[in-house]
Amino acid sequence: MKYCRSHYRDFTYTKSVWDFPLRYFGWNLTLCAFVGARVLRSFPEARIDRYAVGVIDEPHTLGRWQERTEEARATFYAGLITAKLPYRPEIIWPVANMAKADILNFLPAALVGLVSFCRNPSELAPDTFRPCGSCISCKTRKAVGRFPGPG
Ligand SMILES: [Zn+2]
Repeated sequence: MKYCRSHYRDFTYTKSVWDFPLRYFGWNLTLCAFVGARVLRSFPEARIDRYAVGVIDEPHTLGRWQERTEEARATFYAGLITAKLPYRPEIIWPVANMAKADILNFLPAALVGLVSFCRNPSELAPDTFRPCGSCISCKTRKAVGRFPGPG
């Protein structure tokens, strides 16, 4: 947040912890879409007209892109049904055509170490987490390099 405020602009933010096994829920993309819709509708005066999704077609989900995006799109708009917005927010996919390595190269160095990716991190202290090193996201991150810490 400090980096974004100093390089872009001030902003309001929310903070959430999602603590349930995703294999019973579906894709984190779906949960993000729901939370995005709820955040968007919480600030109607801001007239937020775009929801940006930071998703790529990862190796473990290759070939399921259409299924995943359809579910996210449906979840996002379902989360807005009763919001009665006088406009239809747009979903944008700014990194969809990038690989994980491309994203790591694209991010400013100050942010790479702050990117959260692990599906099962250990909380070492408040706001300090260590990736597990063995979930699908950790394995993908190891494959593209710059995995934090030993591993
Ligand atoms: Zn992990």
